[in-house]
Amino acid sequence: MIDLSSDTATRPTQAMRSAIAAAAVGDEQRLEDPTVTALIEAVCDRLGKPAGLFLPSGTMCNVIAVKTHTQPGDAVFVGHNCHILRCETGGAAAFSGVVLDVVPSDTGLFKAAQLQTALYQRNPYTPNPRLVCVEQTHNFAGGALWPLDQLRAIKETAKERGLSVHMDGARLFNAVVALGVPAREVTSTVDSVWVDFTKGLGAPLGAVLCGEVEFIEKARRYKHMLGGALRQAGMMAAGCLYALEHHVERLADDHRRAKTLAERLASYDGFEVTQPDTNIVFFRPGHISIDDYAARLEDHGVRMSWVGDRMRAVTHLDVSEEDIQQSLKVLDQVQNSFSTANV
Ligand SMILES: *Cc1c(COP(=O)(O)O)cnc(C)c1O
Repeated sequence: MIDLSSDTATRPTQAMRSAIAAAAVGDEQRLEDPTVTALIEAVCDRLGKPAGLFLPSGTMCNVIAVKTHTQPGDAVFVGHNCHILRCETGGAAAFSGVVLDVVPSDTGLFKAAQLQTALYQRNPYTPNPRLVCVEQTHNFAGGALWPLDQLRAIKETAKERGLSVHMDGARLFNAVVALGVPAREVTSTVDSVWVDFTKGLGAPLGAVLCGEVEFIEKARRYKHMLGGALRQAGMMAAGCLYALEHHVERLADDHRRAKTLAERLASYDGFEVTQPDTNIVFFRPGHISIDDYAARLEDHGVRMSWVGDRMRAVTHLDVSEEDIQQSLKVLDQVQNSFSTANV
């Protein structure tokens, strides 16, 4: 099966497994795991932040970041289709007791002016506006890039109004590679940011949350509270370090392959395809029902996923050039099978 359902479908490579097996380890909870420490230093260096925290998942990074930035009753401003709002079982509300206030926009990638309009003056009746969250790249907008100018303007608006900015960087390195700028140029627009090593980077577990020293010290207490303090986590951090050193630049291949898929899909009658900035292609298969389309693809050995009324194809480390060529063949075959059925 060629698995285009998600960039979480990757398996650790043999070289990554060797790095994991050879990892120096200690007690992470006591800050004595040398590989975790090395990973945090490497990520902080790339992202230009003074402190970092190793966490088991990206979701835990978001939950802890929102908790650390806010007090119960505060308002957090988000785009309408972001992971924090749609995919974290209400964690921000349940754990932090915050109001998630949606900034209206077409795609979820809101602009400073839209944030300005959504923000209100603090008075005795309103929740306290405290935090703005952005997602780079934006998954449900199609792996879409938040332009740097737009992020800088959002930061300026947030600062004027006394709000912090948090970046969900599950696919930050996809953005960095696509924008062709150093990571710290992207992350200088936010107060806190995390990267996931289990998306296109191909590690089995791990994410690093970065920010100011005081922010990370506070976040560490919530990590402990959630049971996220670990022991010999260097085994996992070694996979992340390996990914950071070997799997970042190659993301450009995934982006090129996503474009190839998008172009072929767009050539079919009636298909609506969102042209990808990075590694995610969203589309509607014309008059064909998504259930039928997905099932027919799977019969031919290609798996995709669907979100609402759209299908999603994601390229990643475990999808080779040959897999893409094979997928194009399958797309054509499936297209023919549906056209023939209609005659
Ligand atoms: C996957 C994802 C997350 C959550 O990361 P996990 O490591 O799966 O918990 C958060 N935000 C975005 C945009 C994601 O794609």
